[in-house]
Amino acid sequence: MQRQLTTQELLDRFDEAISNGYIFAYYQPQFNHATGSMTGAEALMRWIDPEYGMQYPSDFIPVLEEHDLLYKADIQMVESACRFIRNCIDDDISVVPISFNMSRNDIFKHSYVDDVEKVRQKYNVPVKYLRVEITETSAIGGMELMVSVIDKFHKLGYIVEMDDFGSGYSSLNILKDLDVDIIKLDLNFLNGNVSGRGGIIIRSVVQMAKWLRTPIIVEGVETLEQADFMKSIGCYYIQGYLYSKPVPEDEFLEKMSIAYHEPTKSPSELIKTFKADNFWDPNSLETLIFNNFVGGAAVFSYNKEKLEFIRVNRKYIEEIGMNISERDFIESNPWKYFETDSKKVFVDTIEKAISSAEEEVCESWMLLNSKCCGTDQMCIRYHLRVIGNAGDEYLIYAIISNITAEKKSFQDVFESERKFRYASEHTKSYAWEYTIATKEMRPCFRCMRDLGLPPLIKNYPEPVIESGLFQPDYADMYREWHRQLAAGIGSLEAVMPLTAARIHFKVKYTTEFDENGVPVRAYGSATPIE
Ligand code: C2E
Ligand code: CA
Ligand code: CA
Repeated sequence: MQRQLTTQELLDRFDEAISNGYIFAYYQPQFNHATGSMTGAEALMRWIDPEYGMQYPSDFIPVLEEHDLLYKADIQMVESACRFIRNCIDDDISVVPISFNMSRNDIFKHSYVDDVEKVRQKYNVPVKYLRVEITETSAIGGMELMVSVIDKFHKLGYIVEMDDFGSGYSSLNILKDLDVDIIKLDLNFLNGNVSGRGGIIIRSVVQMAKWLRTPIIVEGVETLEQADFMKSIGCYYIQGYLYSKPVPEDEFLEKMSIAYHEPTKSPSELIKTFKADNFWDPNSLETLIFNNFVGGAAVFSYNKEKLEFIRVNRKYIEEIGMNISERDFIESNPWKYFETDSKKVFVDTIEKAISSAEEEVCESWMLLNSKCCGTDQMCIRYHLRVIGNAGDEYLIYAIISNITAEKKSFQDVFESERKFRYASEHTKSYAWEYTIATKEMRPCFRCMRDLGLPPLIKNYPEPVIESGLFQPDYADMYREWHRQLAAGIGSLEAVMPLTAARIHFKVKYTTEFDENGVPVRAYGSATPIE
């Protein structure tokens, strides 16, 4: 009979399930949607009870986690993956890298890295076949530990992936602080919605990942529309039901054996492997990529400030907001869009790309004059790489993106996060933002670190009151404050004893109103009284 095991049954049957191999890995392959090649797979935990059948992670993982049993099962996944890879190598079967999931307790309570490494050595699996998935939530409250775990994995040669990226508020900061090699973006967090707001979020994340030169794997891709949309913004790596559900090992082996394989590459590495010679062959893959490349791409020759476009694709011209043919663009004076300062930045970057033989990046503002719309400014990001030379004349491959909108929005977000963070560090106070309509609270980093708060709290202030931060009578007063904020009070202030240690804090709120006088947000702070 198929049914879900109760908590008690899960706990009673766990040891037996581990030792009899009832807990094991299913594999979900990942593909490059542009080429159809398989690029990797994720090991996902399954528990098949001999009596009651398939149990799913969403039901049993929280139970195992709560009773500190997940660790054993997580290591079992690494073991499954290593055994599988070893068998493939022994049988001369080409195998793709396999990711396994790490949970929060693995690193907080156990010697996870060492144990993973022991398993790898036991099976003598080359480390390039293993990738560890971490989540941003496991970093909360233990940023330093997380940084050191990633560092340890890196020193051993493992690829580290950021799982479920974009599900939390702190994503921007987390990416700056954690050195991950691959980002996994989950469409489930956006309800699979790639148009409208979901699409804007995705574009921004993708743009940022590109700035960090980090490849993205998109998860939860169920439809061709979603996959094509992701491809159109430069994300080729796809994991989801569209290609394959998670499948048992033998089925995975079959899928893997019939697929082409290729590594997961960062956008810049894709350019590195570009062969300049093939570029002139109209039937080569390089030409195909160039013509179909979803971003703007161009090739120009350069010799001591003399610059001549040789090829541009359609998207290049679209990115810079022009409405002329590729041919007219090539024949126009390339410098006419640059101001003196921007031209210098651009020329310096070309020179740098020539001397480093690496990809170099710059941003420059462009002036656009048109009879109908007057003057407009846009910010273009150029990725430049030398692909060939003849004496002093260099051939440069350029990829461009119009980052005017993103630049502005990221500047705003980074700037406000930065201010928020530093202001709270300097003043020793705790700060948070309360959205009145949704009763959501976003704490500052110090709140998250010192009080262990998550990045977004719903139905505020109830969860924090329940955690015992307030004494009962102050709790009622604090609840009342939030009713007053909703009713439109402009500011509030009081001294309250907080935490179990009853430290006295000055707690303040200041309300922000919209143009119609409706209260929108309130900014809270709590400063200890010395
Ligand atoms: P996750 O790591 O984000 O794994 C991806 C989940 O999305 C998997 O669910 C997968 O089956 C599902 N999925 C894949 N493609 C699609 C799709 O196209 N549409 C939709 N709607 N879903 C898709 P699964 O296997 O049930 O795992 C759920 C979660 O349980 C995982 O989320 C992960 O957080 C956790 N988990 C799974 N295996 C392990 C493990 O070995 N160790 C630990 N610590 N956690 C695990
Ligand atoms: Ca995962
Ligand atoms: Ca995920």
